[in-house]
Amino acid sequence: MRICIAEFSHESNTFASIPTTLNDFSSLEGREIGDHYAATFHEIAGFIAGAREFDYELLPLVSARATPAGPLTADTYEALVGRLVDSIRGAQSADGLLLALHGAMVSEGYPHADAETVRRVRDVVGPDFPLVVTHDFHANVPEQLLANVTALVIYKTNPHIDQRECGLLAASIIARTIRGEVKPLCAMVKPEVVLNIVFHNTGKPPLLPIMDAAVELEKQSGVLACSVAAGYQYADVPWMGPSVVVVTDNDLSLAKEEAARLGQMIWDIRDRLILNVPDASTAVEQAVNTDATPVALFEMGDNIGGGSAGDATILLKELMDQNANGWVVTIYDPESVKICARAGIGATVSLMVGGKTDDMHGSTLQITGRVRTLHNGFFEETERRHGGRRYWNQGLTAVVEVGKTRPDKGGLLVLNSIRTTPQSIHQITCVGIQPNQQRILIAKGSIAPIAAYEPVCKKIINVDTPGATAVNRSPAEYRHARKTLYEWRQYDSK
Ligand SMILES: [Zn+2]
Repeated sequence: MRICIAEFSHESNTFASIPTTLNDFSSLEGREIGDHYAATFHEIAGFIAGAREFDYELLPLVSARATPAGPLTADTYEALVGRLVDSIRGAQSADGLLLALHGAMVSEGYPHADAETVRRVRDVVGPDFPLVVTHDFHANVPEQLLANVTALVIYKTNPHIDQRECGLLAASIIARTIRGEVKPLCAMVKPEVVLNIVFHNTGKPPLLPIMDAAVELEKQSGVLACSVAAGYQYADVPWMGPSVVVVTDNDLSLAKEEAARLGQMIWDIRDRLILNVPDASTAVEQAVNTDATPVALFEMGDNIGGGSAGDATILLKELMDQNANGWVVTIYDPESVKICARAGIGATVSLMVGGKTDDMHGSTLQITGRVRTLHNGFFEETERRHGGRRYWNQGLTAVVEVGKTRPDKGGLLVLNSIRTTPQSIHQITCVGIQPNQQRILIAKGSIAPIAAYEPVCKKIINVDTPGATAVNRSPAEYRHARKTLYEWRQYDSK
């Protein structure tokens, strides 16, 4: 049995100011895919492990992924989907395809880009070819996608720490399908709620009991997979919002029944999905006054993993305005890094920092400080963390001491050259920062950084800040999403 594996993954934020182009994608081909992913916790590591566990031969085709940002340009989508489809066309002897798609890709021309990808793949392989797709927990799943897959399996955790298992489950389903042991049938229900990202922690209520129910259902005989995707509120598309997808062995009525039951569980928590997140000034005040240090502040409006700029200055400004001490803030600012590198370690530099990508993430701040370290930006994460990724590169990185009139005063500004999601604490340890010696750590994210920051912080405070990933975006800013979603009906009635 020979099974192709491939990846084409992007989470596209339709509110972000910068489109995603070919240069933003990291691409791998053939054996490079195994070299990159085998020792990770990514779903492709599950596809790879499945070869041994379920006795198939791997045919790695192509992989393309980029950090979340604005939608793909039409040329970018066509180039990458073309490369994927060509590689499948070339794999004549294959018995099936395991395809890792994010589930919230938007391109210029295709608001349901993942469904379009699957449609084109299906066109090439024919109606009966086993094609099992995996999705991120933040997928916005349209019916069109489901119509063209043999089965769909979605991560069950956020932070995403079960991706490998998700890949392995997909591998098991495709192997059993090819052997004729099962005939997967899928049903989906889309509960009519927004389900704001603030509530996406699967380790806590209100989602925890629903995810537990999904795990339990998967143990039931006749059920091959049960997935709950929370949705991605930063893609303004008609199918934005949560989805429940149940895959059974040749029993459509069971799939429909169970999808409806879990969908109802999501609907039943609708009145608990009310936002209560402090703003920057309140959150920094709480952080300055807490004894539970280090405390992490999550700058939710600049959630890099949700497609925002990575150069927001909202919390940095607030920390300086409130004379906070022992803080660490990371900002994407290649221009300032160059100035620091030219000046060298120990030099005093005057910088215009952050707020350069657009006007959504605070203004550029004038900062004077001393260059403490310079680093090439490479680091490695061997623990199970959101995204399952091992090898990282944040580009040339400078640490600048700001307001350090005494060792216990001021803070550390980490300036990097590649927009990097805060999914690993080694993003700051690699530049010589010891988290337990600091008081306030800023992470530009929402739920994802929990896996990295919870082990080193005594407390985490979510912060409602403006930006491309603002958690309190008005429904008036949406043009395509369903205005009938429950939280927005409440909004209309006010
Ligand atoms: Zn996600």
